[in-house]
Amino acid sequence: MDIADLRDRILKQDRRALARAITLVESARPDHRAMAAELLELLRGAGRQAQRIGLSGTPGVGKSTFIESFGMMLTGQGLRVAVLAVDPSSARSGGSILGDKTRMERLSRDPNAFIRPSPSQTHLGGVARRTREAVALCEAFGFDVVLIETVGVGQSETVVAEMSDLFLLLLAPAGGDELQGVKRGIMEMADIILINKADGDLKPTAIRTCADYAGALRLLRKRPQDPTGFPKAMTVSAVEQDGLDTAWAEMGALTTWRRDNGHWDARRVAQSEYWFHQEVRQGVLALLEKGAAKDAIDRLGRDVSSGSITPSAAADKVLALLNVDAT
Ligand code: GDP
Repeated sequence: MDIADLRDRILKQDRRALARAITLVESARPDHRAMAAELLELLRGAGRQAQRIGLSGTPGVGKSTFIESFGMMLTGQGLRVAVLAVDPSSARSGGSILGDKTRMERLSRDPNAFIRPSPSQTHLGGVARRTREAVALCEAFGFDVVLIETVGVGQSETVVAEMSDLFLLLLAPAGGDELQGVKRGIMEMADIILINKADGDLKPTAIRTCADYAGALRLLRKRPQDPTGFPKAMTVSAVEQDGLDTAWAEMGALTTWRRDNGHWDARRVAQSEYWFHQEVRQGVLALLEKGAAKDAIDRLGRDVSSGSITPSAAADKVLALLNVDAT
């Protein structure tokens, strides 16, 4: 494969070349990894900085409906939109609950939109790297907005928030006074909480839920990277396309403020550092899964079980094999 040619075609906004490049970055084959690295290096700094928007929500809350309506609104304004997904379920279940093309039929037919399902991977770290690389490819291609979707499961929100400029949390209207068990950590990540399905019979509940969340957000620590009023809660209806323009305006206001105050660039820098450290950690952990280290771990594990060596002494032996000094 001619990587320089692939680069040129991506820069000429050839969608098939983009799809091919994403397939390349998703591949675990060492020769593909090398080509992917070369391509990303050739494209570094090309294109534009897209608005990267992370979106999380539990299954059924209306993510695909929202992305379709929101995406169509943006393409209607002449913006180009890419949709990527981080699907933590695909590794375990073998099936994907996200990023399925058929879920967003109208948007997937829109020439200004590009939808890519989540890569199936064995672990979230692999998905994270591949999604980050796909984001970079989409930026080089020239998309204005890159939406990165995930379900509200485990660590996947952190992964998506750490590669987004803005993080949206989509919630459904909830009866009662429970805050839907949304974990505080996830609330703290959100820049805007959108209570979806604010239509028909659900509207009054949605408005009440929104007020509950607005109250909860006010109790959170004030973030220096936010202007007054953020993070905020709003109601939308993805089905009726109601409130989407207001939500987009709020995202714009937050982005402008952060850009003007240096927080936007600072966030991207902090994210680069975060991913650098994550990759180093994952690389070190991967060393334990193969070769002499793995053999030693298996063998010493049995010795620890039988009581013939202490856990610390056994660990020291493994680390010595890796040339790592634990002290
Ligand atoms: P996802 O699993 O988060 O992607 O959710 P979907 O987009 O597939 O939506 C789940 C269900 O909620 C579907 O039956 C949608 O029609 C419905 N839904 C999504 N958005 C809205 C909305 O704005 N209002 C109403 N009333 N229903 C919605």
